[in-house]
Amino acid sequence: MAHSDNYSIMLHGGAGALDNVKDDKTAVRYLESIRSILEHGRKVMTLGGSALQAVETCASLLEDDPVFNAGCGSVLNENGKVEMDAAIMDGRDLSAGAVAAVDNIANPIQLARLVMTESEHVMLIAEGAMRFADHCGMERAPEHYFYTPDRVEQLRQARLQHKIMLDHDDTEEDSEDQKYGTIGAIARDPQGNLAAATSTGGIVNKRMGRVGDSPIVGAGVFADNETCAVSATGYGEDFMRTVISKTISDFMLMRDMNASQATQAGIDYLTRKVKGRGGVIVIDKQGNCSSGFTTKKMIHGWIEHGSKPVVRF
Ligand code: ASP
Repeated sequence: MAHSDNYSIMLHGGAGALDNVKDDKTAVRYLESIRSILEHGRKVMTLGGSALQAVETCASLLEDDPVFNAGCGSVLNENGKVEMDAAIMDGRDLSAGAVAAVDNIANPIQLARLVMTESEHVMLIAEGAMRFADHCGMERAPEHYFYTPDRVEQLRQARLQHKIMLDHDDTEEDSEDQKYGTIGAIARDPQGNLAAATSTGGIVNKRMGRVGDSPIVGAGVFADNETCAVSATGYGEDFMRTVISKTISDFMLMRDMNASQATQAGIDYLTRKVKGRGGVIVIDKQGNCSSGFTTKKMIHGWIEHGSKPVVRF
């Protein structure tokens, strides 16, 4: 019998040096958002919701918070436009839904879920994804919903330096003080089902049409009841080339590693192969929570086996 309090939830809100978090007020702002959204996830679980429902709820709330690079806080591309990517995966049967290069959608994770449940496909992109959103009756959010003064300034800085920047980059040339602000939510429900969701605005000043790891099954997101749920944040190109989320799952499946061993093995592989920059959150099939990152910090938090939430950089 499943114990109703044996659920685990993990969230991330981006990795990097986080040198923009210089004062306690900013730090508290990030951590309190993570903590309160974890509590929303707990509510879903205690009301009998599934891991899938919990990750969709938590990812939607993270998308609604403008401090994170997803949904309304998405960064701007080279044309000053928002293009968002998102994916969700159900570990029960490996069903997955993803969208890439979408705009004017307040919650791309919800559109990804509709791709999973209401279409015969795994991924829809750009205009096709938008038409599908219309078909599903999803409302379009107005342009001004996405354009925060911070994002406009961030793009101006990136253009001045003729470079692609990552969210909350500190704008100094060759700086390592970068933050990759994608959001992610993973969960295991008391029935032992795993689910994962990742959503992002991508990277600042990215080329139009650039798609990162976040909507790619096995790269930025993965869930399989037999192994684990994973969500990644960081330089997407590194994660795509190492298929990092599936690699971590494979360490469990084929080498019988536990959550922390597989996470560490994944981070070692990411570093050894491509000097990858970013991090991952992982919940294994027993509900054990683990995280790893190659950047100085990663905003993340978790509820392990129904316990009190822990939040940290
Ligand atoms: N992984 C995301 C991307 O490359 C960026 C991030 O994590 O902030 O699109």
